[in-house]
Amino acid sequence: MKARNIEELVQENQTYYCLDCGVCTGSCPVARVHPEFSPRLIVEKALIGLEEVSDKEIWSCLTCARCSVRCPANIDFPEFVRQIRDEATAEGFDGEYAHNGLLQTVMALQTRPLKQNRLSWLTPREKTASQGDVYYFVGCRPFFDVIFRDIEAGSIQGARNAVRLINAAGVVPAVSAAECCCGHDALWNGQEERFKQLAQKNLETIRTTGAKQVVFSCPEGYLTFRDYYPRYFGDLGFEPVLLDEFLVSAVREKGIAFQPLEQTVTYHDPCRLGRMAGVYDAPRDLLQLIPGIKLVEMERSRENGVCCGTTGWMNCSACSKAIQTERLREARSTGAGTLVTACPKCEIHLRCALKANPLEIQIRDLHDLLAEQIA
Ligand code: SF4
Ligand code: SF4
Repeated sequence: MKARNIEELVQENQTYYCLDCGVCTGSCPVARVHPEFSPRLIVEKALIGLEEVSDKEIWSCLTCARCSVRCPANIDFPEFVRQIRDEATAEGFDGEYAHNGLLQTVMALQTRPLKQNRLSWLTPREKTASQGDVYYFVGCRPFFDVIFRDIEAGSIQGARNAVRLINAAGVVPAVSAAECCCGHDALWNGQEERFKQLAQKNLETIRTTGAKQVVFSCPEGYLTFRDYYPRYFGDLGFEPVLLDEFLVSAVREKGIAFQPLEQTVTYHDPCRLGRMAGVYDAPRDLLQLIPGIKLVEMERSRENGVCCGTTGWMNCSACSKAIQTERLREARSTGAGTLVTACPKCEIHLRCALKANPLEIQIRDLHDLLAEQIA
């Protein structure tokens, strides 16, 4: 791929509107714990024409959009940094992969024509099909339990519970062993070609099932299909649907009921679901359908929420741990005994921090909680 120069990226992202106000740096969770990192400086350096592909700080950004939702000049900093990363990898630069790059290797393998044993997690309790109007996109969950066994990632149980919730809505979703990673991490790690290969494979797989709706229990998969697949591939021929929104409608139409659970919980907004996909209410509405649940909000929630500290299995550092530990303390300070999130990766990152810093709080997946309480 031929690298574009920094002037082209400045033009494309209109970063010349930057007011040099520093709101981005003041909003940034990384800059709070890592003073060498400043989104304002990255923008300013680009404006004076400095090539930034070799700057290691472009990989420190969590692409969490906390800066861009506040930027008075409407500069989409995460998108700008995503594009710089594409140019950086084209010129041989890279970030630091967490877990020795194991997850990136798993993603790369999935671009190949491998026969996968992807559905062995299904039990007789989950009703699925090979064809149908509704498809459930499982994503990378089957790999997480193996890699993160030490922190009991629970991602496969999350997939089972997602299917059980879809079944409770009276729907038997199609699933496929040929599915692969949605490409989210490749897209944000500067691996655009790998993203396109994964996306193309998924589109072919899903189209063979005849699905009109594709349901996602992972915010990254949902956002990537909803906002990025059409950018590269045009009309998908089906509608990406978030499981949370699917369930809100199903509860209303089918009268799904939940057993009581006396718990005080707080909800962590995943960046891809909240700021990037604009979904704040559906997960909260679902939680409050469980009788006995008391939802208390953290000070930094909704648009003001804070990232779980690592994105794309990259640059996991002492800064990530500081952000995660602060988040767990914030959750605990609400009086909640449970932090609920709707993203399997947030769950993993926060559990990892909890293991290192034991606090009186448990971390739960929203869909696990709901599936366990189906009456
Ligand atoms: S918040 Fe926006 S306008 Fe202000 S310094 Fe950052 S990028 Fe520039
Ligand atoms: S996207 Fe998030 S991590 Fe990156 S500069 Fe903006 S606020 Fe900081």
